[in-house]
Amino acid sequence: MAKMAPRGSGVYETIRAAVDLADVVSLFAELEDQGDMRVCFCPLKEQSSKSPAFKIYGDRFFCFSCGARGDVVDFWHLKHEFPSCWEAAQDLASKYDVELPQVSPEARASYEERRRKEDEYARVAAERHAALKDPNNATGAKARSRTMTASPNNGKEVSPTSATAT
Ligand SMILES: [Zn+2]
Repeated sequence: MAKMAPRGSGVYETIRAAVDLADVVSLFAELEDQGDMRVCFCPLKEQSSKSPAFKIYGDRFFCFSCGARGDVVDFWHLKHEFPSCWEAAQDLASKYDVELPQVSPEARASYEERRRKEDEYARVAAERHAALKDPNNATGAKARSRTMTASPNNGKEVSPTSATAT
């Protein structure tokens, strides 16, 4: 499967290659390594759950709390509420000093369409991966890792009425 980016349309690839998603997210949240994923509390919306629901895998993220997902451009788009990913990409490019290829309006439109499809595939793949890596799906994961210390004398009851010693 060769990458066949049409000439003059590599805007998002350029950004993804030049700007590290984890770097950008770490501006807003403290990242924790979790194998080949990095996790943090959602930097986009306040979480209700008590374990980090925001997962970064490679150049993709997804959040089990608010459902946000995508790449570094999507993150910037959501975080700063740009009208579209296109504006977010331009802003990221200027912030990180990335030179973007010039794109005609028609090329931009078809490229946006292609991006939507790619995102869909990436989302499914990433979520499947996350589900495998994190069977608890970010709910109640902490309680489960605690060691249970069951008493071996469970069957033997201590009588509460032992105050009759004369
Ligand atoms: Zn979230």
